[in-house]
Amino acid sequence: MFNKVTSKLKSESKIDGISKEFGALSSDQDRASYALSLAAVEEFIRPGPLVQLKSVEHSLSFKTTGNTAYRASEYRDAVQLYTDSIAWAPMLTDGGEDALSLAYGNRSAALYQLQQYEACIRDIDRALTEQYPPRLLHKVFHRKAMCRLNLEQFEAAEESFLQPNQPDSHDQYVSLSSACSVASTENEGRFITAVRNIAPGEIVLIEKPFASVLLRANYSNHCHHCLKHTLEGIPCRTCPDARFCSEACRDTAMQTYHQYECSVLNTLHHSQINKFGCLAFRAITKQSYQSLKDIRAQDLPLNGCHSDGLYRPQDYNTIIQLVTHAKDRPVQDLFHRTVMAVYLLKLLQQTSYFNGEEDVEMQAYIAGLFLSHLQSFPCNAHEVPELYLDPNAIDLSMPNELGAGIYSTLSLFNHSCDPGVNRNFYGDTCVVRAIKTIRKGHQVSDNYGALYATNTLKERHDKLQPQYFFSCRCEPCSNDWPLYQKINIDSPRYKCTQCQKEMTRDDITNCCSSNIEEIRAKFNKSEVEFRSAFEDLLACRVEEALPVFLRHLALIQEMIVLPWRQFNDCQEALKQCYSLMGNSNTSCALHNGNIF
Ligand SMILES: [Zn+2]
Ligand SMILES: [Zn+2]
Ligand SMILES: [Zn+2]
Ligand SMILES: [Zn+2]
Ligand SMILES: [Zn+2]
Repeated sequence: MFNKVTSKLKSESKIDGISKEFGALSSDQDRASYALSLAAVEEFIRPGPLVQLKSVEHSLSFKTTGNTAYRASEYRDAVQLYTDSIAWAPMLTDGGEDALSLAYGNRSAALYQLQQYEACIRDIDRALTEQYPPRLLHKVFHRKAMCRLNLEQFEAAEESFLQPNQPDSHDQYVSLSSACSVASTENEGRFITAVRNIAPGEIVLIEKPFASVLLRANYSNHCHHCLKHTLEGIPCRTCPDARFCSEACRDTAMQTYHQYECSVLNTLHHSQINKFGCLAFRAITKQSYQSLKDIRAQDLPLNGCHSDGLYRPQDYNTIIQLVTHAKDRPVQDLFHRTVMAVYLLKLLQQTSYFNGEEDVEMQAYIAGLFLSHLQSFPCNAHEVPELYLDPNAIDLSMPNELGAGIYSTLSLFNHSCDPGVNRNFYGDTCVVRAIKTIRKGHQVSDNYGALYATNTLKERHDKLQPQYFFSCRCEPCSNDWPLYQKINIDSPRYKCTQCQKEMTRDDITNCCSSNIEEIRAKFNKSEVEFRSAFEDLLACRVEEALPVFLRHLALIQEMIVLPWRQFNDCQEALKQCYSLMGNSNTSCALHNGNIF
């Protein structure tokens, strides 16, 4: 599709003229208007309709396979197959007959076998709402009563440990901790600094994204809205694709973006649009046409803050002003993105978004917004991962990419190849915690996917420069710290815990009031605890292991010259703890403590 546009322009020898004219344009809206006026774009950028409707046949076929799995006691498989059956079943009013209610009823039985009693009760209620056949009612009523009995026997699970606590929030940047402040310089733009010492484990940010999208590969068992893994997906009433973890998520989606996206979701996914394009589309469909008109009519407040001075992640002002690096991009790059923006506009025009209104200027404005997002999202959006848990080998658990989100406060953190914080996700909610002591006045830095211990200086540069347009000058980059395998594992070099100068046994034994033997003894004791906490982690006893890792990290940083390999090991172990607490594909089992 995009290649056809360029081939056509080439065949007409228009490339040179167009790149000259296009290259001279200075705003995204002008670029979008220009592309919209090209005949070749009009001819080839036409998203074809690819609507996928529900189907009783599909639904019944999934249910039959689900029944086979159920009889073989493969209850997890059965739950997934019944979920597919539910998603494909037409509504009763659309000639679906009993397909939907029966599939809910069957899934409730499989959930019961998995001891998911609360989910089972919800599914029974859904079956009843969808008019479960009266002749079978006694079965589900009996099952519901059994769920109640089982639930009474369990104490309410202690989950507080797994749920992050909201820190005191910053006066202006509402999702940031009050331990941080936002500073800026001409060269670096805005970044985050510590206004006091921040200890390992402290939460510095909890943020819901302005918008997030789920990758299609995860559609079958994750919430389309909040990205959470779910055993009880409930579908959109119209399409078989979008599934939600709860009625609340479904209602929010239907009232906002999904009423528009539903009919074009399939087209979008069969186009060449990547996840950033899907996210750009969502950033627009999340808002009403009227609200975009209002935004266009206003002057944008500075720095993405609202007129009341607050910087809120749910405020489009924070997204619209993210840097696009348009000046750093070659003309072909910009033109390609502009054609994609036109594609997204055409797709949007196939929905009810514009409510029948034909306002050419608003259309160009929205295409301009798409173009701006298609430039800013690749360097500001974040991947939302989930840990694919291997219960028999925690250390071999692999991250799986669930989707992507745009987090406006998170995107203010600068990069370091030796970051001070780690991101974790609960659904699409991002929780950022310190993974080392961050001293007052120092930057609180994140990592953009290039760690010094796993990537060489050149690899890091080659990754960061084209995507983020900067050269890193962090400590590992400036001092060329070694890769993990080359980091010193031998006897540590101790520091005075007060003046932070290195102490060696031969020349100094006392510095300030520190004595090297005392430091060494304190460290050795902590190291023993660290080794045993490592065993706890491998057995998934996160609650025991986590505080030890935090203490040991702080101690190493205070006493030992870095880089030193045990620091990396301890930091990795800590990150693993956080991953286990956030999105993981068997998280419900972990939370109930019954799979290990
Ligand atoms: Zn949800
Ligand atoms: Zn839908
Ligand atoms: Zn660096
Ligand atoms: Zn000293
Ligand atoms: Zn999952």
